[in-house]
Amino acid sequence: MTPFQRPNSAAARDVRHQMHPYTNPVAHEANGPMIVDRGEGVRVFDEDGKDYIEGLAGLWCTSLGFAAEERVARVAYDQLRRLGFYHPFGGKAHTPGIDLAEALIAMAPVPMSKVLFCNSGSEANDTAIKLIRFYNNALGRPEKKKIISRTKAYHGVTVASASLTGLPFNHRDFDLPMDGVLHTTCPHPYHFGAEGESPEDFATRCAEDLEALIQAEGPETIAAFFAEPVMGAGGVIVPPPTYFEKIQAVLKRHDILFVVDEVICGFGRTGNAWGCQTFGLQPDMIACAKQMSSGYLPIAALMLNERVYAPIRDNAGRIGMFGHGFTYGGHPVSCAVALEVLAIYKERDVFAHAAAVGPRLQQRLRGLADHPLVGETRGVGLIGGVELSRDKAARRPFDPAQGVGPAMGLHLHARGIITRVIGDTVAFSPPLVITEEEIDTMVDRVALALDDTL
Ligand code: PLP
Repeated sequence: MTPFQRPNSAAARDVRHQMHPYTNPVAHEANGPMIVDRGEGVRVFDEDGKDYIEGLAGLWCTSLGFAAEERVARVAYDQLRRLGFYHPFGGKAHTPGIDLAEALIAMAPVPMSKVLFCNSGSEANDTAIKLIRFYNNALGRPEKKKIISRTKAYHGVTVASASLTGLPFNHRDFDLPMDGVLHTTCPHPYHFGAEGESPEDFATRCAEDLEALIQAEGPETIAAFFAEPVMGAGGVIVPPPTYFEKIQAVLKRHDILFVVDEVICGFGRTGNAWGCQTFGLQPDMIACAKQMSSGYLPIAALMLNERVYAPIRDNAGRIGMFGHGFTYGGHPVSCAVALEVLAIYKERDVFAHAAAVGPRLQQRLRGLADHPLVGETRGVGLIGGVELSRDKAARRPFDPAQGVGPAMGLHLHARGIITRVIGDTVAFSPPLVITEEEIDTMVDRVALALDDTL
């Protein structure tokens, strides 16, 4: 009898009581959970003590490693004892919230005016959509409300943010996307580029597709464009050179707000503090979360520039209230922990470390390109993807029913690697503190798992 079959085992109790996100519930009931017991640096240990290199930093978030260090735990403890809860509603404030808002504005990649705290990336993007509506109503143009994101984008799972998300699983049978959200071309030359088209020409075509969509809908109806600098959960898609330059020119021409979703890329992931810096982005709003607290406590933020904030302030002033906010948004303990994490980033130059070891990850992933199963490797900084292909020359994906992704996932697991296999793409986004030796161990194991999958 496996532990899972014992009725009071943790695994059996999990299956009995817990519904798991992004999990096939039928398979889960048959197989039970993997119980993650503890962490140490870039590794986690299961309940039997087997260790795994966590190649995705949990969910692209645990930048400083899986056991929070003493000083972070101490800050959380002290804040809990001093003021375990308070909120920013009705003009209240607490020092950790004030300090964190100030720190975010100070480090923002472009001038930002205000920070609105949320608890998750989904909430930050959902909030951005509400603010965009409020902004255009404030400016007296109620018809300018439609929002464009991209096929394969990931912006969250609330009704509005899941609508921005451009992935079939997030829409199917949820009756999404909601009205007023449109998707334009995914900037992935490997799949969407034409035969013989250069990456720059493909980027031009992406911008032309965006322009055509805007013209078809009427520029006066399009309010905003959302983009991740590198698309993460859609399969680690790095935009081709000149893509964002051309897209931003289209947005400017039609007075369309640019919202950059830095939920994965923010805080050092792409080799700079922000993906905006890596790709030259000039957003009006920035959503960020995850590595802001190394994932240790939930916290997210939406930053707004003055152009967006001023009409919102004036309109809310007229109404007598800005009618939005989350009970736990800007929780003092989360803010205190995030501040300590930001202090560690600075003291140890963690982003510079990530920038220094990132090329090793990219070089080692490129080394897998000759494997018969590998169609494309890609990435920037400490984020990368290895896309498996059924036919390298034709770039043909695997039939999902064939399940090569799940098979690769099982082999990775057996080899002591945890990551996510997104469709045919194995994603890597390890903790920023990973060393070159750990990168080598991780990719060596990935190479073995590829052979196992053949
Ligand atoms: N935006 C991006 C780019 C993300 O990767 C994610 C989550 O992975 C989200 C938004 C949603 O964040 P959350 O899961 O905290 O709601």
